Amino acid sequence: MPHFILLQSIYPVRPPTTVDIGNQIFFDGAASYYYGSLRGIMGAWQTMVNLHARLQAALAVDGHDALYRHIFVTNPATACTACYSVYFDTGGAGFGWYGGIDMPGPDPTDSMWNYLSNVSIGLPGHEFGHSMHAGIAPASWAVGEDPTWVITEDSSGATTYARLPFNNGLVQMQEMGVALLEGFGDAMGNYFLNGCHVADRAWGDPDPHHVWMNPANYASCDSSDFFCPYRAFRFQMTQRGIAEGSPTWNARLASLSDLADQAAAAGAVVVTSDNEVKVSNFFCDLLDADSDVSYAAGQVAGKTYLPDYAWHAAERIDGRAPPLLFATYTMDPPPETVTLTLGQLLDAMQGFVTGPIHPGLPNPIVDGANSGYDETRMSYWGGYSAQALAHYLAGAGYATRTDLNGILRANYMEEIP
Ligand SMILES: [Zn+2]
Repeated sequence: MPHFILLQSIYPVRPPTTVDIGNQIFFDGAASYYYGSLRGIMGAWQTMVNLHARLQAALAVDGHDALYRHIFVTNPATACTACYSVYFDTGGAGFGWYGGIDMPGPDPTDSMWNYLSNVSIGLPGHEFGHSMHAGIAPASWAVGEDPTWVITEDSSGATTYARLPFNNGLVQMQEMGVALLEGFGDAMGNYFLNGCHVADRAWGDPDPHHVWMNPANYASCDSSDFFCPYRAFRFQMTQRGIAEGSPTWNARLASLSDLADQAAAAGAVVVTSDNEVKVSNFFCDLLDADSDVSYAAGQVAGKTYLPDYAWHAAERIDGRAPPLLFATYTMDPPPETVTLTLGQLLDAMQGFVTGPIHPGLPNPIVDGANSGYDETRMSYWGGYSAQALAHYLAGAGYATRTDLNGILRANYMEEIP
């Protein structure tokens, strides 16, 4: 008879051996897919218990125990006092939020994709990361996400939320709130899966012609691909009331091509911080104990780039064309020795965002009126970027500016001055 052994000794934190739920009858006489779902749900339940135990232990390492309490909420809707609620009622990856999480529920189609979270650690780890962020560092969670830049629109006007898959998400340019919140979720998925070990860097394609915001390069995928960057450009234009093929439409398209051409002509590699994969790697480099940067030897020093590429592109999409100022990395990253505890990182995430939160783009977008938005939510100079967090970390003495800039260079992100 096959049997299943959990090697608990390999876990950094030993999960509870038994959760006694008494005698229960599940789905008596229900359709067969309910029973398949139940197997996933019980595994997911064990994962959730394990994630809680690991978070609690990680915070206790340096006296941050009290933060753990913040992920529990009193919810009148469920008549629950100090609860973390786990719902099994959605599909795909699920949703983590303040005080709870939605995980995949029974699915009549029995689709494998609808059970991803139930059978993995990284996906629920990501969603649990959102709950941690919301409960423990609400000041930066409040930044929220403006999905405008990752919504695509086909020629019929149909729109899609198209956040990740294009080129594995590496060239995608998002708004900084998306990059921050999802980047933290991504990092927690990695943290709970493997201690935030990142084997390689998410440098992406170095050619500026291939950036997300050079739509002319992506005319060919427009007819077929939900994740086609040309469709993202179309959504931006139609939200502004700019008709396809109009002189203004063509001028904006040409302005973005000119931006890519100028960057390429200067020999620039693509450096951006408006990307959750990069922000996730930044978080993981803060947390991990891996000092090896041999992957970067000879890959960083002397590389020219255009700082704030996504901001430059957003400005051009809004009808302005600020001049380009290039920069060059002067050296490869030094060995990466920064190791924050999870409690320290969460403290910093609570501390680094101050003042009122800049809202997302309105619908419809008022064309030409968004320079303040671009400065706050598209630029690395804004308050929600990895650089803003790095600046805070340096000022508060968590790490040196030199070490933090090493991490930023190692990920092809802009350094802090
Ligand atoms: Zn997420």
